[in-house]
Amino acid sequence: MRARITILGGCGGWPEPGRACSGFVIEHEGYRLVLDLGYGTLPRLLGLLRSAVADGLDAVVITHEHADHMVDLHGLFRARWLGLTDPPTIALYAPESVLGKVVALEDPEAAEHVDAVFSWLPLPAGPYEVGPFTLESVALPHHVPTAGVRLTARGLTIAYTGDTGPDPALVELGHGADLYIVDATHPTPPPPAPGQPRLLLSAAEAGELAAIAGARRLLLSHFWPGTDRELAVTEARRSFAGEVYLADEGTMIELP
Ligand SMILES: [Zn+2]
Repeated sequence: MRARITILGGCGGWPEPGRACSGFVIEHEGYRLVLDLGYGTLPRLLGLLRSAVADGLDAVVITHEHADHMVDLHGLFRARWLGLTDPPTIALYAPESVLGKVVALEDPEAAEHVDAVFSWLPLPAGPYEVGPFTLESVALPHHVPTAGVRLTARGLTIAYTGDTGPDPALVELGHGADLYIVDATHPTPPPPAPGQPRLLLSAAEAGELAAIAGARRLLLSHFWPGTDRELAVTEARRSFAGEVYLADEGTMIELP
């Protein structure tokens, strides 16, 4: 059975007009999970599910606490909490700080409701069995704790960097993946700043990484608003010979 990934959003930082920040729905063997829920992703997710209360969503994976990757998790919480009576929990895999952000947007007594809406397990940790997938995760360098994630099912591997700087672990994360989703905030790396760690990736580096990892397809994402996306593809193709996709809202990719 083929899996399908639908792009909810591909902007980094904040969404461009008509677009959304990071979000990817993966559907496989009747199971639906979403990777990240940045600004503007929730209405698109609900549209895909054809449910105002996100019925049909089985799991959420959030890489880190930055709002462009998780703020619509709060909207999802409200849809389940306010829109349903005694809803079945949705599995949530995320760093603990993500839960804290959702709670912080509510009245103090909302914390217990967050626990009732989501059944939470920490990242990076595991591996976990998530529907038809095994979810593995790895800590990556960023401004805050962040997890790269790798989902493996029979005959299918999808890996996702989330939001990270360069790191040797990224090769293993995407090793042999059918689809490697890599943040490509800018087309090429910024000039080096002495003493400052690199905490973002570029499209050029994403291409190099996908090539070294032996990934089959590369999905470029997390574009800073105003980025020339075609230039990003050109930069990635300098080193990666496989298919390169752009994280444009509404794009669907069938795998493997
Ligand atoms: Zn971030």
